[in-house]
Amino acid sequence: MKDILLEIKDLKVAYGGIHAIKGINLEIRDGELVTLIGANGAGKTTTMKAITGLQGWVAGDVTYLGKSIKGVPSHELLKQGLAMVPEGRGVFTRMTIVENLQMGAYIRTDTTTIATDIERMFSIFPRLKERANQLAGTMSGGEQQMLAMARALMSQPRLLLLDEPSMGLSPIMVQKIFEVVNTISKEGVTVLLVEQNARLALQAADRAYVMDSGLITMHGNASEMLDDPRVKEAYLGEA
Ligand code: ATP
Repeated sequence: MKDILLEIKDLKVAYGGIHAIKGINLEIRDGELVTLIGANGAGKTTTMKAITGLQGWVAGDVTYLGKSIKGVPSHELLKQGLAMVPEGRGVFTRMTIVENLQMGAYIRTDTTTIATDIERMFSIFPRLKERANQLAGTMSGGEQQMLAMARALMSQPRLLLLDEPSMGLSPIMVQKIFEVVNTISKEGVTVLLVEQNARLALQAADRAYVMDSGLITMHGNASEMLDDPRVKEAYLGEA
């Protein structure tokens, strides 16, 4: 079995008196595509934030490459290969596509290969190439999602966290985003995918965790979970 890249142990997160995460365990092994699904408010985004150093916790721990990330700032984690595409994307709207991609590589010192990687992003996301000099803020929601993913990939992540990449997109764009997630995964990047679209997420992933009211209620092989009656009823809209 591959090495554990990231491990969450008995994690508890509270916002004031609200217990958003009530003690969860989760592991991601090198090369896996793991999905975290669940209803609104289940605690998925909070989990992502804890992993990337954006949210502290009251108990438990998160380890990345065998070391606790408690108190490690996000930019330091990014240098260690942990990148996140947040919900709502957060591209630099007043910069062009190319400038956004260059910003994504700001932690890198290998300037000669940055240009090669921008070309590689253009081959994965042809739409971005067509719009290379357009301001990011004038792109459609789906195009901005692609740009946000490409920008994160420019940091050469080992673990890429995607928070609801299909949110608010048309069915065709959703399909495209999932194709790209598969491509990224096949290229060897480990992925944690948070999704509301449980069916597509389970079809894409190797393993899955289901979150409900701050707890992990189920986990296992993603294809097996697609056939699980409880998952079907609660998350796939099947009786
Ligand atoms: P969604 O799919 O709607 O984004 P989620 O599963 O990502 O949901 P979280 O955003 O992690 O859920 O929220 C978990 C719980 O924590 C919710 O009840 C939410 O209202 C609460 N919460 C999140 N952020 C904060 C905050 N900054 N302050 C107070 N409560 C918060």
